[in-house]
Amino acid sequence: MPDIAPPSNIDASNDAVHFQFATAGQIRFGWGRLQEVEEIAPTLGSHALVVTGRSRERAGPLLDLLARQGIQVTRFSVTDEPTVHVARQGTRQARSAGCDFVIGFGGGSALDTAKAIAALLTNPGDPLDYLEVIGRGRPLQNPAAPILAIPTTAGTGSEVTRNAVLASPGHRVKVSLRSPLMLPRVALVDPALTLSVPPHITAFTGMDALTQVLEPLVSRRANPLTDGFCREGLPRAARSLRRAVEEGQDRRAREEMALVSLLGGLALANAGLGAVHGFAGPFGGMFHAPHGAVCAALLPHVMAVNVAALRARQPQSPALDRYGEIARLLTGQAEASPEAGIEWVLALQQALTIPPLSAYGLTPDHFPALMEKARRSSSMKGNPIQLSDEELRTILERAL
Ligand code: NAD
Repeated sequence: MPDIAPPSNIDASNDAVHFQFATAGQIRFGWGRLQEVEEIAPTLGSHALVVTGRSRERAGPLLDLLARQGIQVTRFSVTDEPTVHVARQGTRQARSAGCDFVIGFGGGSALDTAKAIAALLTNPGDPLDYLEVIGRGRPLQNPAAPILAIPTTAGTGSEVTRNAVLASPGHRVKVSLRSPLMLPRVALVDPALTLSVPPHITAFTGMDALTQVLEPLVSRRANPLTDGFCREGLPRAARSLRRAVEEGQDRRAREEMALVSLLGGLALANAGLGAVHGFAGPFGGMFHAPHGAVCAALLPHVMAVNVAALRARQPQSPALDRYGEIARLLTGQAEASPEAGIEWVLALQQALTIPPLSAYGLTPDHFPALMEKARRSSSMKGNPIQLSDEELRTILERAL
């Protein structure tokens, strides 16, 4: 198959560095920083839509802090990963209550819902006017309502990204509402909030965080800033992900994973991702499965197929060196080969007992539709080499 690679920022022949970088207005990271909501909230507005996940109780301390400052609160909770319909509902509720800012408190589902609602609150029309792939993809015209993003899982980095992932059950796909105007005003990352995450969700979300500091390092849009975030994140994930799963009260492991998640968000929002997320978006639209678990099932197989494709068709590609660097950062071995990195991720996948994709209903009959949707996804454009149908199929066969 002819491989026409677009210009790459990690191409050795491309000396000129050119990139753009945008993130949340402010990032506050550290134990106990939730308390600072008292100081931050009054600078954002007077009536908050507080978007939480399934558990409303977990937000108790947040609501107390808001009450102390006299901030009016309207609650909206999401019971699952958000859909276009949920974004519409939340926007209607926020508008009729007169909310002037939005707080997302929870995992990526709550944060993305908050970001989508904040964007739709200040921009006319329907989510489909703005959604990529399935919608009209129009750019947002007005800045979103101010957003305070407070993650309670360590996985998505959504507190610093410019997109909100929404499922469209009608189209059987998950796609993004995306604009720099959706970046949160403040990202408040308090690792204490993740202490209560149960082991299996720590494993799934942690594998998402690991993927998000790995894919941007080999992305076609990688740049020196995002490279730095990935290089900080990979060794931290290597030493802390398993520990956070096995010893949920280990503060150092929780802190490191909260940081990996943040670093991944900073990297992906500015460098893009790759085939793991290229598949995970469409997969999440076709099957009911936690996003992190899907990334976890795919990651080592995407790495293996990418490395083999690069060796076969682009042996001079700097992405191959980067797969070697990833292996060294994960294993701590100075001589580790790209294959050693793949083995390391496979062993981690097994240790965390990540279910295969067949556990969610995937069969080979679904491969053509999934591959077709993955090809069109925005994340696939970041993959370091264009993969053939056979290669895409190999990834799915191995993850099945
Ligand atoms: P999630 O938000 O769906 O949460 C997973 C589960 O963990 C839920 O049951 C939730 O109630 C529970 N939970 C959350 N915090 C908890 C806590 N402190 N203690 C105990 N339980 C807790 O999962 P997620 O992986 O954080 O987010 C997934 C969503 O984020 C997906 O929709 C995915 O597509 C999206 N995503 C967005 C971006 C982005 O940049 N916007 C990036 C990656 C993923």
